Amino acid sequence: MSNLPIRRIVLHYSATFPDQDWGVTELRRLHLARGWKDVGYHYVIRRDGRIERGRAEDVIGAHVEGHNTGSIGVCCIGGLERATGKDLGVDNRTPAQIVATTLLLRDLLARHPGAEVLGHRDLAPTQCPGFDVKTWWAQVNAEARGGVPGSGASAPSAVPGLRGILAAIRSFIRNIFRRPS
Ligand SMILES: [Zn+2]
Repeated sequence: MSNLPIRRIVLHYSATFPDQDWGVTELRRLHLARGWKDVGYHYVIRRDGRIERGRAEDVIGAHVEGHNTGSIGVCCIGGLERATGKDLGVDNRTPAQIVATTLLLRDLLARHPGAEVLGHRDLAPTQCPGFDVKTWWAQVNAEARGGVPGSGASAPSAVPGLRGILAAIRSFIRNIFRRPS
């Protein structure tokens, strides 16, 4: 059974702390240990903004129970803070992760037009991914249309360092040209 057509793009966090420099390798190991056939997500965005591939987009993921078919799962590494512990999910994406997420979403929407961008918590009783994805995405698009940059709630973390942006763009371009499917 194919995962296509894509109707939803669902954002997640990995529920790890910022000092845990995880990527798709660690998540795949975790998910295989649960008895799954592969990492549950289609994309993983590392703390430094690098985008890593998980499942192919036409393969049904394992990231949002009851809504996996027709969904692409994108996981940003992070979501917990040492100060608040493992019971509080927060938006602690790095500036590079925010840029990478935005670029990846634009690419996905270009190839899967009409797909809805939302968070895991919009579909299930969870804090994941630690923020209101629909509000954030609407704000990103409003700013791209010429609104006042950085005027929204996430303004402080939304000002990315140049190095982070360049790393994210490099990673994004590499991913485009390595796309196997
Ligand atoms: Zn999730």
